[in-house]
Amino acid sequence: MEKVIEIKHLNKSFGNNEVLRDVNFSVSKGEVVCLIGSSGSGKSTLLRCINLLETPTAGDIIYNGTNILNDQHDIKRYRTHLGMVFQQFNLFDNHNVLSNCIIGQQKVLKRTKEEAKRNALNYLSVVGMEKYVNAKPRQLSGGQKQRVAIARALSMDPEVMLFDEPTSALDPEMVGEVLKVMRKLADEGRTMLIVTHEMEFAREVSDRIVFMDKGVIVEEGPPEQVLVNPSQERTKEFLKRTL
Ligand code: ADP
Ligand code: MG
Repeated sequence: MEKVIEIKHLNKSFGNNEVLRDVNFSVSKGEVVCLIGSSGSGKSTLLRCINLLETPTAGDIIYNGTNILNDQHDIKRYRTHLGMVFQQFNLFDNHNVLSNCIIGQQKVLKRTKEEAKRNALNYLSVVGMEKYVNAKPRQLSGGQKQRVAIARALSMDPEVMLFDEPTSALDPEMVGEVLKVMRKLADEGRTMLIVTHEMEFAREVSDRIVFMDKGVIVEEGPPEQVLVNPSQERTKEFLKRTL
């Protein structure tokens, strides 16, 4: 399969705290990969390194065959290929829903307002938020905000969607509506890398599960292997605590 993102020997330290150690893995076109592991194991740091919100200490990040860590690479352009969804939504609070989904398209992708609006409305309807175009984020529930954040990311037409615990800040009754949208994207064949604690969801949507502990990838494979018959003791312990 064609690799979209390939991580090689990635290391990241904050001072003398080694947060990622020799991380190697890849995401192929159309693949859904879920990254699981205890809090503090380095999952967010790994996602933040992939979109260069953090600078890796060592290693390579290869996007469609090109190493994006070499100096010549246009980082701004690279970032437009990745859609990021955060735990805390990160919507622009003083902009309405539609505007949240348009700004980036106009500023970064230089699309016309009409073009950006058409695209935004399309994705707002994919996430079921087309009726809320004029609402401000404060008028929305957590689940609605997160669906808008997903529509905003999709509006940039990224090649890969990165999710960092998109349901962890939600009230339990709102988790389902967000997972439903993500499941739909997975079914459409989008390339997705998802950090999640929702094991049932991970089992159902993933092509592959990656388990991280203390900054290293301990085990990876198809969900039925990693979640049902893990080969590593640390994976078994984690699952016992989680399930
Ligand atoms: P996870 O997402 O798996 O919970 P994180 O990637 O957030 O883990 O954190 C892994 C480790 O990196 C933690 O020990 C955390 O304190 C540390 N860390 C993360 N971000 C920073 C930062 N900006 N500065 C210093 N330490 C950080
Ligand atoms: Mg995290």
